[in-house]
Amino acid sequence: MKALYPGSFDPLTFGHLDLINRGLDLFGEVVVAVLKNPAKASTFDLETRLNQINEAIQDLKGVQVISFEGLTVNCAREQKVDLILRGLRAMSDFEYELQIAHTNRTLDASYETVYLATEAHHSFLSSSLVKEVASFGGKISHMVPKGVANDLERHFN
Ligand code: ADP
Repeated sequence: MKALYPGSFDPLTFGHLDLINRGLDLFGEVVVAVLKNPAKASTFDLETRLNQINEAIQDLKGVQVISFEGLTVNCAREQKVDLILRGLRAMSDFEYELQIAHTNRTLDASYETVYLATEAHHSFLSSSLVKEVASFGGKISHMVPKGVANDLERHFN
């Protein structure tokens, strides 16, 4: 089976990477879809986010990295995936994710969204938290892959 894993990935964290690995184990193929959202200012431009992910997944078989604009269900149809994969860290994620899942179902009921609970040791990790730590010069090597850590250091220096 083929799963679509959509998100902002601004930037990719070890939490995202864990979800990609576990999605691969479960479904065999994962398409990581990086959202190009003109309405939401991102720290890293689309090309940088794509490069960061491509570097981090280079040894994984069955992962493809793409960018998309617009509706996730349209992207799912174009990529011919079987399901949408998302992650849950806490109750705060749940409310937002449920709303998106319901919306997507009303747009195209042929796609189920499958959620993986975060690994406990990644439950605190979010892209925004990593950026905050990096902006104050804190250690981020246990939160993001090396390439992302380098980009963050460059960005905040
Ligand atoms: P979005 O802006 O679409 O929420 P994100 O890049 O923040 O994009 O997250 C993409 C997906 O990855 C979401 O489903 C989010 O819950 C999940 N995710 C993010 N961080 C983690 C983590 N540490 N553990 C598990 N899932 C995570």
